[in-house]
Amino acid sequence: MEKILIPGVHFEDVPGQAKVKQLLQQIFENQRLAHAYLFSGNEGCGKLALATAFAAAILCESKTGKPCDQCKSCLLFKAGNHPNLFFVFPHPKSAKENEKQQVLQTIKTAPFQLRLPWNNPQISIEAIRQLRRELSLKTFDRQSRVIVIIDAHKMTQEATNAVLKVLEEPPERTHFLLLSAERESLLLTIISRCQIISLGILTDDEIEQELHKQSTIDDTTARLVARLSSGNLRRAFQLLEAGASELKEVAVEILRSSFKKHFELAIYGNEIAGKYERTQLKEILESLMLWLRDAFLISNLAWDEAQVGLTNLDEKEKLQKFSENFPGFQYNAALKEVETSIRMLERYVQPAVILIVLMRKLRKFAVKP
Ligand SMILES: [Zn+2]
Repeated sequence: MEKILIPGVHFEDVPGQAKVKQLLQQIFENQRLAHAYLFSGNEGCGKLALATAFAAAILCESKTGKPCDQCKSCLLFKAGNHPNLFFVFPHPKSAKENEKQQVLQTIKTAPFQLRLPWNNPQISIEAIRQLRRELSLKTFDRQSRVIVIIDAHKMTQEATNAVLKVLEEPPERTHFLLLSAERESLLLTIISRCQIISLGILTDDEIEQELHKQSTIDDTTARLVARLSSGNLRRAFQLLEAGASELKEVAVEILRSSFKKHFELAIYGNEIAGKYERTQLKEILESLMLWLRDAFLISNLAWDEAQVGLTNLDEKEKLQKFSENFPGFQYNAALKEVETSIRMLERYVQPAVILIVLMRKLRKFAVKP
């Protein structure tokens, strides 16, 4: 079998979260390892990657909080098949074995690219029962065991109760790491059994760095994707996959089409609304906001000052041309309008209508009031 290399073996491999890493390190220094932790934080902030690195540290025989890379446990961990590391994740009963294996592979190799292939899956009582059966077996070499429960808030009531029972009387040397982006959906009785590890969202810079580490993209795309992803690295990777630069081109085209004749504008609005999904349309409009912000900076600041804050550095000429052609463009009003359109997309108003109304307004903002 092909060896899987788990990327997040060391805390340093995980982006950002300096304070949390320090805290986790201290747990080992103070020898205060608890039975259960709840990693709480927004989608895409690194809960899984950090929990995996924490698991590696718990399992390492050195017990220093830094995986030694040499002990039997570290070698098994790096090979991707540590017998004492369990991952529980939501999946439907009908999930195929190969689908589950694929998810497991992504968990281990690319935690930030994890996307469950099922519609609104849950963690069922069966999954917890199976886990308990496995836990009742003798531990490998009588070493520590770690159970990572991904999206713990997706446990059914029954599954929650079963986990609660285990947490009330945890087996020896067994550590539960619950992960959740929706801590408020968890039972208080579960939360009270866990030490809470709160993660913050990642900064644009941290996301940019990570994108560069894991893919070959140019600086401008990395910057654009980082700003569009709002601190969510998983979303950043999705955006990259979806072609962030294509979405930006559409954004600029929407702006350009605003100045066309009414019927042409309507045709374009319909075309774009039919071609992209709501989430993509949102990204297109967010991209448009970034572009308008850049144009605002260019028309109000000297180039030296403006370029520091620019997202679309590669569009310098287009941005300059726009600011020259429309010296009175009402940027603030336009940005507000785009924001309103984004909110309307969330409210299920017809996308074509939203786009056409937006374009008509953008055209008006080009003329001085
Ligand atoms: Zn080790």
